[in-house]
Amino acid sequence: MRKKVIAGNWKMNMLPNEAIQFIEELAPMVKDTQNEVVLCVPYTDLFYALLTAQNTNIKIGAQNMHFEESGAYTGEVSGKMLKAINAQYVIIGHSERRQYFNETDETVNKKIKSAFEYGLKPIVCVGETLDQREAGETEEVITKQTKLALEGLTEKQVENTIIAYEPIWAIGTGKTATKEDANNSIKAIRNKIAEIYGQTVANRVIIQYGGSVKSTNAKELFEMSDIDGGLVGGASLKADEFSKIVNFE
Ligand code: PEP
Repeated sequence: MRKKVIAGNWKMNMLPNEAIQFIEELAPMVKDTQNEVVLCVPYTDLFYALLTAQNTNIKIGAQNMHFEESGAYTGEVSGKMLKAINAQYVIIGHSERRQYFNETDETVNKKIKSAFEYGLKPIVCVGETLDQREAGETEEVITKQTKLALEGLTEKQVENTIIAYEPIWAIGTGKTATKEDANNSIKAIRNKIAEIYGQTVANRVIIQYGGSVKSTNAKELFEMSDIDGGLVGGASLKADEFSKIVNFE
């Protein structure tokens, strides 16, 4: 039985004092959940978030990292640095990074490998654009992104990778994929993993849905056979709303 992982992606929002207040508010509301609760916060919040989340069941992660461990990469943060402050998760290849910051399938693959080197759990985003969906290319696009992201990883690493299926047209737009569409896309990703790494590995990989998840649609999405929780943007910025998504059952 796969665990449900509900991860918030705060994007470029929340000052340290807001992060602290949010986690203090959220912690008692999610303390009894069996689901994994993760907040991926801006770098400037990481230290405060990690301290505040100590002795709670809330895990803290970053939203990006560089694939090199150190060096002349002004403005970048490495997996080694994230590990040193005890971050546990890192989002890799979010569509906003692919779109605005030249993230490619190749850099995504390098970052995942580096994340594992430093014991971080990667949440790897894949998803199609509206044009690709309308051209009937969804399955081809997301399975190719998945294959390239995971290339060269061991079976154990693949099992420990979280994939977030996020149709780009559904991110921040209020439009959600139907639960059937989302489940089918996630099944296609799982089948591709089975084809390369075997069914046992594929059955263990956590694959989330992301794209305008909110408290009013979380239950119907997360109850689908292959959807193992969600990556949540806008609705993760209010503790009360996010707690309802975590406690969707
Ligand atoms: C995201 O940022 O990964 C996301 C899915 O955003 P939203 O929930 O706001 O659509």
